[in-house]
Amino acid sequence: MAKFSINLKEGKLKKDSDIIVGIDLGTTNSLVAYMDNGKAVAVKGKNGKSTLVPSIIYFGPDEQIWVGDPAREKLATEPQNTIYSIKRLMGKSYGDVADFEQYFGYKVIDEDTESLVKIRVKDKFYTPIELSAEILKELKQRIEADLDTIVSRAVITVPAYFNDAQRQATRDAGKLAGLDVLRIVNEPTAASLAYGIGLEKGEDQLIAVFDLGGGTFDISILQIQDGIFEVLATHGDTFLGGDDFDRAILDYWVDQKGLAPEVVRENKKLGQSLRLKAEEAKKQLSLNDKFEATIDDLELSLDRKTFESLIQPLIKRTLDSCANALKDAKLNVSDIQHVVMVGGSTRVPLVKQQVANFFQKEIYDALDPDEVVALGAAIQADVLAGNQKDVLLLDITPLSLGIETVGGLMDVIIPRNSKIPSRVGRQYTTSVDGQKNLKIAVYQGERDLVEHNRKLGEFILKEIPPMPAGLPKIEIQFLLNADGILKVKAKELRSNVEQEIEIRSQYGISEEEMAKMLIESLKNAETDMKTRALLEARNEANNIILSAGKFIKQHQAILSEEELNQTIALTEVLKSTVKEADKDAINRAMDALNQYTAPLAHRAMDVTIAQAMKGKKI
Ligand code: AMP
Repeated sequence: MAKFSINLKEGKLKKDSDIIVGIDLGTTNSLVAYMDNGKAVAVKGKNGKSTLVPSIIYFGPDEQIWVGDPAREKLATEPQNTIYSIKRLMGKSYGDVADFEQYFGYKVIDEDTESLVKIRVKDKFYTPIELSAEILKELKQRIEADLDTIVSRAVITVPAYFNDAQRQATRDAGKLAGLDVLRIVNEPTAASLAYGIGLEKGEDQLIAVFDLGGGTFDISILQIQDGIFEVLATHGDTFLGGDDFDRAILDYWVDQKGLAPEVVRENKKLGQSLRLKAEEAKKQLSLNDKFEATIDDLELSLDRKTFESLIQPLIKRTLDSCANALKDAKLNVSDIQHVVMVGGSTRVPLVKQQVANFFQKEIYDALDPDEVVALGAAIQADVLAGNQKDVLLLDITPLSLGIETVGGLMDVIIPRNSKIPSRVGRQYTTSVDGQKNLKIAVYQGERDLVEHNRKLGEFILKEIPPMPAGLPKIEIQFLLNADGILKVKAKELRSNVEQEIEIRSQYGISEEEMAKMLIESLKNAETDMKTRALLEARNEANNIILSAGKFIKQHQAILSEEELNQTIALTEVLKSTVKEADKDAINRAMDALNQYTAPLAHRAMDVTIAQAMKGKKI
């Protein structure tokens, strides 16, 4: 099994004993932890107060970037320059997030429903990967300052339901922050590890992990066999959490004090003060029976009984999810051996009590529910470093495997450190109308451009029936077995044309060469990412230019002269930016063309429908 660590400053290999950190990259807060003399500890900031770094990024004047508490202060005054909840956008296309766009205070770009979302701040465009990397850089700096050493290896946690694209995005963010991501671990797995569950040999048990944070709720049912965690079911609600408890209190006060809801909505300052007081009340009621406060001359009070009746319907929703998760896993409450509590909102006594009642057993809640995931990630890191002798280590693939896509980009299909054997499939399509042959070139390595990686082989999928670009569905499957033999199969799903090859992925490469490839990828992460962003923007722009051309040809009749000229002019501007090396200029030109043509496209669709109706005979 391959295991490397790297000293980035000197570009040399480090000893295996070097620290690997555990990172919880959360929706509201993030934190970093490490093993200190056999005990997992979370790292506090310079002020020594909190281990939590709010997952908020502020873009100030002169390209300044602030992360965490200082950024949070800008949420109210400069919402358009302050990014929060970026985790909700990781690995997502605009089509995925269109339904809750209102939720974001910043600008999410929607030019192409298939491609990954971008966020516009001032005149620049950022991917969720770049933004998450800023949070990871902050955590890296925090622990480096605390331990006075360079940290370059990490385990990062993600929700159990994250798909392949979301996990890859998280890995890429780590790389961009200068971290070699040894493993992506499921949050419920990490939480269980923090309580030592799953560390014993020969254990076979079923665990429920109940995670109620500020804005999201997840329940996961895990099976652990011989140190291997399998997620049997997950359920949850991406918009249910402590914020809803605060809102319930606020609504209660508004009602009780006879305040008009519009007044509170319009008087932002009053609304904000009430919201903050509501959160304070909720936290106090986790310890006390009564809360009292005043805002200006408004007297506010809340007792625990009333608070509990306000949040009862919300807790009921979480328990309904638990029942559904058990049903999906085909289990009964009595099959579950342990229940682990995660997330700040599990501090509420009624939540604890009702979860314990539901599962009919004692819950694990001794650790700080905000830290438990990061602590578990640190333990997983320790296992990977080989420090926990009892735990089974699995065979992994030492370098990523992928294929070349348009523009010479590397598309990773099996990421480095994946368990072996591994089978992954992904769908692709053609970029040219009527394309009959498709070259599939297989590469190994961590760089964004295939030219910097190691080519393992290539083959051509022939005789694809002619179709317009984008219509063929080509599934590429990678199957890597325990001997490092990689089978690559390509199949066009509409016609069933297929082709495959077999490659020995580890053949002719030494451990030193692999380590060198890793060092190079970390050193070049930032320039690689910039090149990738530029090439992707160009690809996207070329597609849009093609569609704009087709659109003009098909719908000339319904466009006014001005509309026609303006569409052509904006397309020309886009064409000229594609030649330049400024991805933000390309993105701005795409945005402008899309905004202008969107209403025209709507109208064209109406006309098409109207014409179809005309042709119908009764
Ligand atoms: P998380 O997203 O896991 O950081 O959870 C944050 C949520 O936990 C927020 O809604 C907080 O208001 C809530 N929270 C933090 N401390 C307490 C407490 N002592 N009692 C109740 N809720 C809390």
